[in-house]
Amino acid sequence: MTNDLRHHIDEAMTLAAAHLGQGRVADYIPALAKVDPDKLGFALALPDGTLHTSGDADEAFSIQSVSKIFTLALALRRVGSDLWTSVGREPSGSAFNSVVQLESEHGIPRNPLINAGAIATTDRLIDGRGGDAVAEEILNFMRARAGDDHVEIDFDVALSESETGARNRSLAHFMDAFDNLKHPVETVVGVYFRQCAIAMSCRQLARAGLFLAMEGRDPLTGEQIVEAHRARRINAIMMLCGHYDNSGEFAFRVGLPGKSGVGGGILCIAPGQGSIAVWSPGLNEAGTSLAGAVALEHFAYAAGWSVFD
Ligand code: GLU
Repeated sequence: MTNDLRHHIDEAMTLAAAHLGQGRVADYIPALAKVDPDKLGFALALPDGTLHTSGDADEAFSIQSVSKIFTLALALRRVGSDLWTSVGREPSGSAFNSVVQLESEHGIPRNPLINAGAIATTDRLIDGRGGDAVAEEILNFMRARAGDDHVEIDFDVALSESETGARNRSLAHFMDAFDNLKHPVETVVGVYFRQCAIAMSCRQLARAGLFLAMEGRDPLTGEQIVEAHRARRINAIMMLCGHYDNSGEFAFRVGLPGKSGVGGGILCIAPGQGSIAVWSPGLNEAGTSLAGAVALEHFAYAAGWSVFD
């Protein structure tokens, strides 16, 4: 079985490598534009602690929107179902930073994985505390889930994102205007920019996602991170909303819940089986890693992993 998985990873990586150079590196955050577009990494974490890695799996990259999964878990832990008064659970069919829908839907973002929804989720996670304390909580959570204290925030990326963050600030002000923000805009986006700027490798990220593959329980520490029903629901949201207006295509091709980030990372959850992280900075038009999605598609197909089994 393990040998088969190794073989599937090698094959998926060869097929994905043929697509390097086809995507575009995100350049609207200047610090991200510097990344080598030919990087390609893959890590598979299994519940027994085994990790299979390939390519650039040990190089840290900016996790960007993959962080939204983890802040969603933390916010649900902190405020429970009341989170759903601030944010919905429907796919958006819109770009990640779209402002149009927010206006017609009175400041309540469609879901926690588009930028507006993630900003609203971070606002709820703050829950009256200072921004620095919350950014530290998120970082410590990522370190604990990755089982690695070396996970850091890349402050150059955070600064670059803040300096070019007019659009995200607009989303936050818009929600504030509809009374859907409980803290000052700068406090909320200050945490949001830092969570997006966390740098992790595929190895660390795959390990960090394991609790979502195992009904909310981290199989390596034994901790129940979120209740089982919440883990299932986070996976449902990833499946339907994890790739913005490309979510249907990803579900069709890969058949597993996933979340992409404009740094080129994708975290993919195979419930009961394991957690996979891929990284390749060239993005498709919706902002999902192009070669990364190809690697996941081939791996999931060959391994027979799908939530539709
Ligand atoms: N930090 C990015 C932004 O807010 C996240 C977008 C993404 O990774 O999809 O624009």
